Amino acid sequence: MSTGGTRELTPAQMGVAWAQGTSPVLGTLVRRVSSEWPMLRAGITAMQQARRRWISVGDSAPLSVELHHNPARLASVVAAPTPDAWCPLCLSNLPQEEKGVAVRELLVALPNPTPIIRDHVVFAHRQHVAQRLRPALPDLAWLLAAADEDTVFLYNGPTSGASSPYHLHLQAGRAGDLPLTAQASSLVPVSQRLTPWGTAAAVEGGARRFLRLTADDPSLIPPMIEWTLDLLMADGEFPMNLVMWRECGFVAALFPRSKHRPSCYSLGEDRRIVISPGSVEMAGLVVLPRPMDWERMDPETLARIYREVCLNDPAWDELLARLCR
Ligand SMILES: [Zn+2]
Repeated sequence: MSTGGTRELTPAQMGVAWAQGTSPVLGTLVRRVSSEWPMLRAGITAMQQARRRWISVGDSAPLSVELHHNPARLASVVAAPTPDAWCPLCLSNLPQEEKGVAVRELLVALPNPTPIIRDHVVFAHRQHVAQRLRPALPDLAWLLAAADEDTVFLYNGPTSGASSPYHLHLQAGRAGDLPLTAQASSLVPVSQRLTPWGTAAAVEGGARRFLRLTADDPSLIPPMIEWTLDLLMADGEFPMNLVMWRECGFVAALFPRSKHRPSCYSLGEDRRIVISPGSVEMAGLVVLPRPMDWERMDPETLARIYREVCLNDPAWDELLARLCR
């Protein structure tokens, strides 16, 4: 499971330092690795050449969503991993050209060879341990403390869009590429509570329901996330996505999920839409690898998909009651 030393770079070797913020280190890593790895270069080109259009989604508090038609993402969107399958995040399985930067003791930042957003990296655990957020919170706290405003951090629960649910990982990329980072602060809470760490607000917008956690200091976000996880489920981890970024302090958008894939994923080919909403989609960037889905997608369809994968009315009302208790 070791990287053998040869596949890891240090920020100093790349002429940067974490003290400058996360975006110089991650951006330099992606540029450095892409200069030597054709697969990553092809993935970046596919992302850059993705067809794009914007639609407005939701009735009461509509939000703009950016649609990307990127055929290179098809394998990720239809992935159905099994516990004993070959694991793409085990360091011993990485292609020779893939190189990473250590994040503290346990994580290694690796460029995503099929990126959705600019400077898209995966922070993979050094061991093949299951995807769960709580064990990663100390490392997340370190990353958030190092974060600058250009970096957004992502977490997908194991049943909520994680492409490798059996290998613990976080993700990051350019904050400006995810529409929610410019939208979340404008949404009026339907309910909120002042916690010892900051404000936990329940918000609805763009046909989505989520908890917006805001704190003055990034160090207060991980304990507030832990408090929220306990609010959602006493034991285990409630299905959810997390999107985190620096903005007048720090913001974490936590999307509790009712299901991973919407029912349209399983319809007959004439009506099927291949979409696997994860943190990127919940943050307003929807990847549609197949041309027919790109053609079919419209505001009403996407609103229906978002509503279906978010909490339904009874579950949301129950969460609001617990938030105010
Ligand atoms: Zn693994």
